[in-house]
Amino acid sequence: MLGLMQSQPMLISGLIDHAERHHGDAEIVSRRVEGDIHRSTWAGIAVRSRQVAHALDQLNLLFSDRVATLAWNGYRHLELYFGVSGSGRVLHTINPRLHPDQIAWIANHADDQVLCFDMTFLPLVQAVHARCKTIRQYVALCDADKLPPDSGIPGLVSYEAWIGGQPTSYEWPTFDENSASSMCYTSGTTGHPKAALYSHRSTTLHAFAAALPDVMSLSARDSVLPVVPMFHVNAWGIPYSAALTGCKLVFPGPAMDGKSIYELIEAEKVSYAAGVPTVWQMLLGHMKPGGLRFSTLKRTVIGGSACPPAMISAFNDDYGVEVLHAWGMTEMSPLGTLCTLKNRHLDLPPAEQMKIRLKQGRAIYGVDMKIVDGDGQPLPWDGKTYGDLYVKGPWIVREYFKGEGGDPLVDGWFPTGDVATIDAEGYMQITDRSKDVIKSGGEWISSIDVENIAVAHPAIAMAACIGMAHPKWDERPVVVVVKKPGAQVTREELLQFYQGKTAKWQIPDDVIFVEAIPLGATGKILKTRLREQLKDYALPAA
Ligand code: ADP
Repeated sequence: MLGLMQSQPMLISGLIDHAERHHGDAEIVSRRVEGDIHRSTWAGIAVRSRQVAHALDQLNLLFSDRVATLAWNGYRHLELYFGVSGSGRVLHTINPRLHPDQIAWIANHADDQVLCFDMTFLPLVQAVHARCKTIRQYVALCDADKLPPDSGIPGLVSYEAWIGGQPTSYEWPTFDENSASSMCYTSGTTGHPKAALYSHRSTTLHAFAAALPDVMSLSARDSVLPVVPMFHVNAWGIPYSAALTGCKLVFPGPAMDGKSIYELIEAEKVSYAAGVPTVWQMLLGHMKPGGLRFSTLKRTVIGGSACPPAMISAFNDDYGVEVLHAWGMTEMSPLGTLCTLKNRHLDLPPAEQMKIRLKQGRAIYGVDMKIVDGDGQPLPWDGKTYGDLYVKGPWIVREYFKGEGGDPLVDGWFPTGDVATIDAEGYMQITDRSKDVIKSGGEWISSIDVENIAVAHPAIAMAACIGMAHPKWDERPVVVVVKKPGAQVTREELLQFYQGKTAKWQIPDDVIFVEAIPLGATGKILKTRLREQLKDYALPAA
């Protein structure tokens, strides 16, 4: 017997319709590439997303055709999010930090038909457009009078001219909720990038889940600053959850330095912000010397790489901001776990609570996870045993676009490539990416643990731990560090700092001071590059 409730497909157009009808006056504030602050509302975004849909119809774009973006977080990008997917096309957000060769490869692989780009990326588009075989229309996200006359890009139009004369009403099409809505290529640290292809259903379910109190806890009372980019994994799904809840959105545009972010948080009374640790490092670095305080910021979700304990304490103890540690990946839309305390933890002493907060958190309803050994056998949830982390659920990849890389699943589970523990209460903690874990004398050393201790030292700004070949132990850890401006610390002092904080054999064999640590396209430490840079390095004699 079937249930007798209405069957209505979950479509992204439904999210923007809802935001317009019920939260039409909630603000969407953007710092633009031009540097000024632009103000819109959910109603304004809705109207212009319908104009985008008309502009795409006029190009005779078919259902599921790909429309690419190379853009910062801003109102025009948000309009494309809803206009492209709402009208049945697939939004392909391209990460502008990728190498131009990779961008051209991705655009061709995705068969992109249209490319909308912020003016920051004009030189990039000029460099790759001749190689992008399928793109029929280039759109510069700018006013008509800002369009460069001699860009060299055939048929280039400004976004404002492109959507300007279009009708403001549009009948969103109804179709199968399993249809593709957007796509995102993984950074492709090994081989060619592969694309996760999200659906209207997976995106809507993820939007519901992400808004829950124990996940991002978004509401119509919040002013939300996604520093996480809309060009990578849909800014952790915040644009969709924001439309669902009607919160105010504040977009940083290209200005992600500490000063600009701080000013935006204060001016727009931001209550909630989301970002990767490297961005928050810059924010805290800006605030500390001037003794600056937050007037409205209450919570921040941090993920993408392990959040160092020192950062959680700084936000919590020095600024009264709750840190929510999150874990996920492109293939998971991206959210998998989020760390919030349970009722029974509320009376624990702060140090005990901190031990929990450091973990990547509990599975969000919809995500099933397990850790397995080398033979694929499930391992116990005791908080100590570590194994390969596998996941499954309705917003987790089943197959990559065009079947790239073959079947990624193992008995229906997606192997994340992360190594983790899970404790008896279901809190998961990432030990490492499987390719970064250091194998020393038959034991595994977590590079994250070694890095966390280094950045807890007051003189250290950033740390990366990598394994170096060792004749006796296979590998030994060394820690590569960047000092804070003006700070002093010696190799011996830093090694001494490890004493008592970890087992002796987990203390790195050496400290390498560098000016900068290479970061990848998503702001994560590029250990592959670091290993190349240190290929002539030799461990000190014991
Ligand atoms: P990529 O395109 O580089 O795969 P993703 O953004 O999909 O980028 O990265 C996902 C990976 O990032 C995860 O598999 C994990 O290794 C790492 N990661 C994400 N969040 C965390 C976290 N909170 N702690 C530790 N590692 C994390």
